[in-house]
Amino acid sequence: MSIKIMAVNAGSSSLKFKLYQMPEETIICSGIADRIGHDDGIFKISFAGQTVKKILPLPNHAVGVKLLLESLIDYKILNSLNEIGGIGHRVVQGGKYFSDSAIFNDDTEAKITSLIPLAPLHNKAHLVGFHAFKDVLPDVPAVAVFDTAFHQTMEPQDFLFPIPYEYYEQYDIRRYGAHGTSHKYLGEEAAKLIPEVSHPRVISCHIGSGASITAIRDGKCVATSMGLTPLGGIMMGTRTGDLDPSVMMYACKCTGKDVYEMYDIFNKKSGLLGVSGISNDTRDIEEATEKGNIQADITNKLFARRVADFIGQYFVRLGGADIIVFSAGIGENSGFYREIICDQIGEALGVKINRELNLPLRGKTEIISTPDSKIKVAVIPTDEEIMIARDVVRLLKLN
Ligand code: ADP
Repeated sequence: MSIKIMAVNAGSSSLKFKLYQMPEETIICSGIADRIGHDDGIFKISFAGQTVKKILPLPNHAVGVKLLLESLIDYKILNSLNEIGGIGHRVVQGGKYFSDSAIFNDDTEAKITSLIPLAPLHNKAHLVGFHAFKDVLPDVPAVAVFDTAFHQTMEPQDFLFPIPYEYYEQYDIRRYGAHGTSHKYLGEEAAKLIPEVSHPRVISCHIGSGASITAIRDGKCVATSMGLTPLGGIMMGTRTGDLDPSVMMYACKCTGKDVYEMYDIFNKKSGLLGVSGISNDTRDIEEATEKGNIQADITNKLFARRVADFIGQYFVRLGGADIIVFSAGIGENSGFYREIICDQIGEALGVKINRELNLPLRGKTEIISTPDSKIKVAVIPTDEEIMIARDVVRLLKLN
């Protein structure tokens, strides 16, 4: 049966969408309602080789969804909204409740609501997005696809923090990870690049503005770098990644700020931005490096070291590795960052990359290691939306 599925990623001020024809997996249209909450909101929709962009007030998510659904009819992308057979919503935090995607019913909604304290901006926005669609399309079934679900296969020694055990028992304080949908996709795609390996060990590096690394064996997550929230793990665009916990207490004491202010700084003003003082965007830091900026250079070195440390850790965790994958904004587009990371792991792990092939490579699947590299290294563009659409078809039994 051929059916149209909408994949939705609602953030605090944006709502991204992609409409698929399934099971063919062809993209019918895609776009974004951005700057939600502003008078100069941006609505963009691409279909049949063209893109329409409008600047207009987008006071809330519901207005964005209404605009999207009207556009589907106005631009004759659909004849009727009844053609949409299911909607998949990305949900960042599924906590202990979800080890797979779930049909969006009252129980699912109650659990997502109960997890708001763990992902205040995200989970709230996902529910707003869900209701915005539900109001207009009350009879179209929806599925929640959790960023944390893929990581639920971790063992206690991989997800527990060494704090009093009752904090885990009473408050569910543990590592949940994030980017799970992306890592699952990358694990599957990486396995296809090494068909000769029967039990693939994959180190998946999703390195964008938010960044995480996952160790995958036989398609299952065994360890991941993000923690209780997406603040943990490797250094990111504006987030610290893992820190000595005493930094929080001492930085508060030195600056006179409280923990909430410092937590905000660790989330929004640290990482690449905080260390470089230049930008959270690697393109700006790369440019500054080329001009000889020393702070940019030290930022790159720290970033590469932090990523390399996790790759090394997961190499040990997996008992070796068959393939290392780079993906997301930086991983897919920046040969420079891939190179400085691979330089850090080269000697210990016997990783060698083809520098000429790597440097200009952007946004496409390619093996960038040399034939004599002990571990294959690949660039794979991630595709969280197709995973969402696939899960909608699977859970709603639309195939
Ligand atoms: P997120 O989804 O977490 O917001 P992305 O995966 O879109 O982040 O990654 C965004 C980051 O990727 C940018 O901040 C920048 O550092 C990097 N990036 C994006 N495009 C390029 C590019 N063409 N070249 C180099 N780096 C890029």
